[in-house]
Amino acid sequence: MPSSVYMEELDAFTYRAAIAEGAPIIIPVGSIEQHGPHLPLNTDVVLSKAMGARLAGAIGGLVAAPIVYGYKSQQRSGGGNHLGGTTSLDAATLISIARTLTLEFARHGAHRLVFLNGHFENYQFLYEGAEQATAELSLHGQDVSAILLSYWDFVDEDTIEEIYCGSFPGWDVEHGGVLETSLMLHLYPELVRPDRVMDLPAAQLPRYDVLPVRAELTPESGCLSSAKAASEAAGRLLLERTSKALAEAVSTELALWLP
Ligand code: ZN
Ligand code: MN
Repeated sequence: MPSSVYMEELDAFTYRAAIAEGAPIIIPVGSIEQHGPHLPLNTDVVLSKAMGARLAGAIGGLVAAPIVYGYKSQQRSGGGNHLGGTTSLDAATLISIARTLTLEFARHGAHRLVFLNGHFENYQFLYEGAEQATAELSLHGQDVSAILLSYWDFVDEDTIEEIYCGSFPGWDVEHGGVLETSLMLHLYPELVRPDRVMDLPAAQLPRYDVLPVRAELTPESGCLSSAKAASEAAGRLLLERTSKALAEAVSTELALWLP
């Protein structure tokens, strides 16, 4: 049993032994993105990493060093890439990172990868990179499969109702809002400044994008919905239920792939 679930904390021999035993590799993917005045820029990184550690514990996997930067923040899901602090990759770069890492872990002998996404805008580019790499590996007869997911898709309806009491704004505008702030209050309270939460109405955004962005469409908080109702207890509940649902789904999928 490795001494840590975090790959980068292991020595190479222990890491290789875990891979040889079939440990799946979980790759957390985040962003460096403004999350209002109350949350740190690396919110998406630390949350996907924490979800990854729990998943690793449940499936006997390892958590790879995270992809720290993400694809450009979009106004309708992350406030927009014009905001200071937000530091993003272009699409080609993120595709290349996902593709390269898939090939690297395959070279180490890993067969099962999980991209655990924590930043809304990343998804399609991770998909493209993983698709290119797995297709290429399969042409060479290598059995490598990847699961891609965003963790909030594992929050069930009952939990949404319990936490939002009928006022769920939608995952796209859950940026710096109740979900992320509650999870951060539970996991990393020292990184949260609840006294700085700006309690503004949820963003009213058009059903289309405008480029260059019209900055005034983003609320001055940089958040797309208010974090006022966030709490440590909600964070604990969200983490417990989400990790459980995630572990169930991933183990079921992995079991289908057993030789
Ligand atoms: Zn976020
Ligand atoms: Mn984000």
